[in-house]
Amino acid sequence: AKDNGRNQYLLCTDEIKSEINKEKELINSLYRAMENDEIFLVYQPQVSLHTEKITGVESLLRWNHPKLGLISPSVIIPLAEQTGLINPIGEWVLESACAQNKAWQDMGIPPIQMAVNISASQFKNPQFIDQVEVILKKTGLNPEFLEIEITENIAILELNEIIGKLNGLKALGISIAIDDFGTEYSSLGRLKMLPIHRLKMDKQFVDGIGHNHKDQAIANAIIQLGKSLGLSVVAEGVEYEDQIAFLKTSECDLIQGYFYYKPLGVTELEKILISGCDL
Ligand code: C2E
Ligand code: CA
Ligand code: CA
Ligand code: CA
Repeated sequence: AKDNGRNQYLLCTDEIKSEINKEKELINSLYRAMENDEIFLVYQPQVSLHTEKITGVESLLRWNHPKLGLISPSVIIPLAEQTGLINPIGEWVLESACAQNKAWQDMGIPPIQMAVNISASQFKNPQFIDQVEVILKKTGLNPEFLEIEITENIAILELNEIIGKLNGLKALGISIAIDDFGTEYSSLGRLKMLPIHRLKMDKQFVDGIGHNHKDQAIANAIIQLGKSLGLSVVAEGVEYEDQIAFLKTSECDLIQGYFYYKPLGVTELEKILISGCDL
């Protein structure tokens, strides 16, 4: 059962890339994708290790291309960046995710946090904070239930600029997580200055738990670092019971991975959220 979902994309990344590069009307095709509901979001639950309850979900982009089938976000996002469509797509993602979370609350489901991935170029956009504010107003979502995930790639900006932007976002009342923590250029001097709430430990360290001494030592160090800085820590890509045992011992806060849940469609997730409450 652990293998389900791994081969969810019909073609391998390189094949898709060359196929897509052949499309002359790529920009139109991506616009059309947004208009025709070819792009959609799936949601992967984050589970508290203490309570085993779902505390939030991460929204993940999918494109059901009429000719090419299901396309991975690791293809869509770089394409969107190349074609300048990252802003409209990013806005669509943010608004859809916020609207969905508000809709769940309106159904009476106990509130959970919605995490949304923001690429470095979106974050760089001078309009970004305004976009977030407008979307929160438009959807009516309480900002405390929105979290944005940024990566260490935002280091392309000046430190002062990053801190200024993050403070602006924090002032809106939303949370900020550092995604893929430990994989890019991580400066601890920088980390201590950033007004963030959460670290997402990359899957590569989780993968080493139980068989790679160094990865396991780093996994433990990231969790302890996060805790001592007052940040919550999410372990990503958790697939196996022995990883759970280790993460419990290290007192990691949250788990996101196939061990509990794969990314789910709205209907499937709703059933799970509803069955966990007294609706
Ligand atoms: P990410 O933000 O690190 O998201 C986690 C990825 O790991 C997701 O892949 C998720 O499906 C996968 N995953 C989660 N648990 C497990 C597990 O236990 N085992 C394995 N093998 N994989 C697991 P996905 O959905 O293909 O997304 C890939 C990347 O695309 C994301 O990595 C993120 O960087 C980017 N992405 C996805 N949606 C968006 C979006 O809306 N905006 C932006 N800017 N980037 C996005
Ligand atoms: Ca992420
Ligand atoms: Ca990640
Ligand atoms: Ca990643």
